[in-house]
This record gives sequence, structure tokens and C-alpha cells, in this order.
Amino acid sequence: MKRHDIIQAMREKPDIPVLIIGGGINGAGLYRELALQGVAACLVDKGDFMSGASAASSHMIHGGLRYLENGEFRLVKESLAERNRLLKNAPHYVQPLPTTIPLFNWSSGLIAAGFNFLGRRSKPSNRGALLIKAGLSMYDFYTRKQSVMPEHSFTSRHKSLAARPLLNKKIVCTATYYDAWISYPERLGLELILDAETAHPNCKAINYMRADRANGHTVYLTDTLSGEHLSIQPQIVVNATGAWIDFTNAALTRDTQLIGGTKGSHLIIDNDELLTALKGQMIYFENADGRVCIMFPYQGRVLAGSTDIHIKNPDEAICTPEEMAYILESIRNVFPEVRLSEQDVVFRYCGVRPLPHSKASTTGQISRDHNCEIIPATGVIKFPIYALIGGKWTTFRAFSEQVADKVLAQLGIQRQTDTYDIPIGGGLNYPVTDPDRQAWIKTRQADGNLDQTRIETLLNRYGTRSAAFIEYLQAQQDTPLEHNADYSRREIEFIATYERVSRLSDLVLRRTSLAMIGNITIPLLQELAGIIVPILDWSDDEMQVEIDRTIQLLKQHYGMKLKTEERERN
Ligand SMILES: Cc1cc2nc3c(=O)[nH]c(=O)nc-3n(C[C@H](O)[C@H](O)[C@H](O)COP(=O)(O)OP(=O)(O)OC[C@H]3O[C@@H](n4cnc5c(N)ncnc54)[C@H](O)[C@@H]3O)c2cc1C
Repeated sequence: MKRHDIIQAMREKPDIPVLIIGGGINGAGLYRELALQGVAACLVDKGDFMSGASAASSHMIHGGLRYLENGEFRLVKESLAERNRLLKNAPHYVQPLPTTIPLFNWSSGLIAAGFNFLGRRSKPSNRGALLIKAGLSMYDFYTRKQSVMPEHSFTSRHKSLAARPLLNKKIVCTATYYDAWISYPERLGLELILDAETAHPNCKAINYMRADRANGHTVYLTDTLSGEHLSIQPQIVVNATGAWIDFTNAALTRDTQLIGGTKGSHLIIDNDELLTALKGQMIYFENADGRVCIMFPYQGRVLAGSTDIHIKNPDEAICTPEEMAYILESIRNVFPEVRLSEQDVVFRYCGVRPLPHSKASTTGQISRDHNCEIIPATGVIKFPIYALIGGKWTTFRAFSEQVADKVLAQLGIQRQTDTYDIPIGGGLNYPVTDPDRQAWIKTRQADGNLDQTRIETLLNRYGTRSAAFIEYLQAQQDTPLEHNADYSRREIEFIATYERVSRLSDLVLRRTSLAMIGNITIPLLQELAGIIVPILDWSDDEMQVEIDRTIQLLKQHYGMKLKTEERERN
């Protein structure tokens, strides 16, 4: 369905059971939950889907080792179970990630952890090997019945430095354990939305549609692309606007103070020496100020972060030069001999964690758990608001399930199915083992004219949804892009036609990782815009506006240095 058809359908049938405001991972997860129970929900986002915190994560699908020292045992247990479920249900995008922790002393942090355990919050302190041992043992204990990944191990200083000669020589040992990472979070979020609509075609999700105000039974929406207005009458409103929750509640006439967001920034670094030093693993380490930071290989680059700074208005969140310097310095503490400079940063991004409002003395001590606050109907607005507070990428399914149960109870509807074992998007029938992959690729090769490497690339990018791509690609003459031969013209056409692209920035930032890995040039933007123009019905002027806007956005918001030709490597 095209965007204007969805809007038309919303105008024709404004009475809906549930309006979900916010198309991040929590809104999208709930949308799928409700669709599968036969509830024709409507999902709106003021920007693109997955353009808030859900696009700004560390890309970890993890139990949350650090949360143990805050005593968040329930959350860690749930996160580990959900991590293992995502490894199974989204194997195309979620994969195991061996993780090494460099340790600089044996016993620090035990007293602070003990205080936290007893509920007396203490500031983060240096975490020594014994504390990490306790945490990792608990990790293994929680997952002992599932044995999806190997247990943790410790390596002596001598052996660690022999394996990683560039590691800081001051270590006393290293610990290695397994978590997971997600390659294309924004795509997985979109797949949830598409899956929901396959399950229940009367569900409607629309991006660039802002919830502005409410009165009586009506919520008033504004199309942020055209400026047009729309009104709908939901029985229940779910406020899944993450760090914007209090702003949205205020717009809906309810003043709340539920969120105390903290912004976090990440860098994408193009530095071969650093990439090699990682040896294909994540390095999970503590910075001088006690903050836990991470770095790991990401599509030929290094993803590193993050910061944790209170912020009031999420629309103002941006990765500052100071944050960039902080992250680079933290890496130098781990790999002092790696030559690293600001010039190596090809992309930087920032998002706001929708953490609960808290009086904790440091941001690291604020709970990472989630909960749903129900704000009852009043004389002014005649529907309840369900506000989704917190919620990690990792735990979205469990959180969505818990909220869906509350919504279903209010609507008087029985749950029909659960999402425990339901694959997501291109994770359906995904060939995980090498022989299965080869067989999958061979079958597609036999059916058409694409070579093995190309089919493999598409399988890695889109999971088994690549079958639909392959069919589309082969239906007509296709050519690689002139300015990035990794993608083809018909591949871009497919994305623009079937994946809710409304702006050029959606394509380069969230449907592909072209921007994130620093592969955007101005000629490439012009080429991409030229391909999607007929699909999005833009005039020549509109196309130029989109190109100019995207260039500004990439430069100002993501710190990209756009060149007129391919980016020169150092
Ligand atoms: C720096 C950082 C690192 C993180 N790392 C990890 C990690 O490694 N692993 C992990 O599991 N989790 C991680 N998280 C947490 C996780 O990313 C977030 O908790 C999660 O994405 C929140 O999703 P959400 O849907 O609640 O919010 P968001 O993704 O922010 O979605 C809210 C949406 O609401 C929309 N919106 C706002 N106002 C309106 C309105 N009036 N009308 C319509 N739409 C509106 C916004 O445009 C936005 O798209 C990290 C978060 C951050 C910020």
C-alpha cells in the first residue's frame, strides 16, 4: 500500500481499537503483537520508523552484564532469554558476539557492588577480575539450561598479550564470554511492521505522522511531509514515544514526569589497525570514569561508544566534538599503540535512552528495566494512555508481550498466539548452517542469472526476504549502481517500492547502511534520488530539495564529510 492510500484508509475509518504513537522498536513490537491477536491497530511516527533511540543503539543484543551490579537480576534473566530467542527468531540479523574484557586489577569494585546489592547505591568504581568473575558466572547460570553459546573463560596476562600485542600492557588478565550483536536493527524493526500487516492487513503503520493534540475521543495527527491534518478516534492510546513520552503526554493534555532521558553517542571508525586489534571480537571495557564502553567490528569498520549524559529535549541530541574526543580517548586507554585520529571517524550518531525519571546520583545507576504506566481517561480525553517507559532493544518482545496483555484485557480480547517462537522477516526459514546456506544459494542460482557472490550478499542483507528481491531483480534488466557497485538499481527500486521509504534519508540511513559505514558521496546521493523519483512521485524541484536536505543532515547530524567523489582512504 502506498503512503497516500494508507492515509486515505485512515480517513475513511477513523474509529480504531488502538493507536500506537511512536514507531521505534517498542511501538513496532507491540504493533506486531496486536496484529497477531487480530487487533487492527494503527502505528504512527513523527519521523521515519526506527529513527529515534532504536537507530542509535550500541547494536548489542545482550543480557546486560553491567546491570547485575545495580541488582537488576530480573532484567538480566529476561534479557538473556530474549537474546537467545532473537538468535533463533532473527538469525539473519542477530548473531553471537565473542566479547573480551581487559581487566586491570583483581579485586576492585567488590565493596561498591556489595553496597548496590544491599540496595545502598554506590558510584561505579573500578571493576576487578573477581567482580567480573561473579557476574559472568551468574550469566552462565541463568543460561545453563539453554547452552546456546560457550561459557565464559579467563586468560592470563601473558597469553592475552601474546594474542593481542596492542592491548594495554597494564592488564592483569582478560575474560571472554559470549553475547550477541545486531547488524541491521532498523531493518529488523521495519520487518516487524511488515510482518504485522501480513498477519492482519487492516493494521496501518505510517511514518512522518505526528500526534499533536487530543480532545474527547479524538487524537489529531499532522502529516509532517505535507502539513495536512487527520483525526482518529482510538479506544486506547499507547504512548511509545520513548524519550518523548512526557512531551507526547503533554500534547494529549496529560502532564507527566515519567522520563529522565540520557543521550548516548557512538562513532564509526575506519582504521584497519584498530579493526585488526579487535580480532573479530567485541572489547567491553571500563573507562577511567567507571563508565562501561564497547568497540567491535561492524561491516569493515569499528563501532565504538558510548556516552551517558542527561538531556531534556531529545530533538536536540547530537554527538558533540567533546563526546567524540571522549570515545577516542577511551579507545586509546585500551589500545595505546594504535594510531587513531578524528580523521578516522566516518560517521557519528546519538540517541536518547528512554530511562525512567530517577534521582540516582550517576546516570549508570538508573534502572534499565521497563514498565507500562496506565494513565486513565479524564473528562477532557476519553481514552486511557498506556505509556511505555524504558525497554531495551534486546527485551522488546517480552515488553511488547506484557503490554499487549494489558491492552487485550482492556479490550476484552483473548490472546490467540504468542510470539515466543515466531521468526521475524527474513529470519523465516533462514539457512543457518553452511551446507544449508550453500543449498539455498544454489537453488536461487539455478533459477536465474545472479552469481553466487551476489546471492550471498543479498542473503546477508535481507535474510530469506532476499528471495523476493532476487525475483524482482531478475524480472528486468538490472545494473550495479555507478557510484556504489555493491548495490544495484533494481535493489534500490525494490526498497523504495516495498519498504515505506518516504525520504532519501530513510534509504541511506535506515534501509541500507550506506551512510553508517561512511560510503556516501554526493554523486551517489544524486544517483539514488534519481532512481527513487518516479516511485515517490517527486518533481525535479522536490528531488533537489531532498538531496540538499540529506546532505545537510548527514553533515550536521552525523558528522559526515561528504565528498564529490568516492571517499579517499587515509
Ligand atoms: C546510546 C544508546 C545505546 C543503546 N544500546 C543498546 C544496546 O546495545 N542494546 C539494547 O538492547 N538496547 C540499547 N539501547 C536501548 C534501546 O535502543 C532503546 O531503549 C529502544 O530503542 C527504545 O525504543 P522505543 O521504541 O521506546 O523508543 P524510540 O526508538 O526512541 O522510538 C520513539 C519514537 O517515537 C516517535 N515520536 C516522538 N514523538 C512523537 C509524536 N508526537 N508523534 C509520533 N511519533 C512520535 C519518535 O520519532 C521515535 O521514532 C540503547 C539506547 C541508546 C540511546
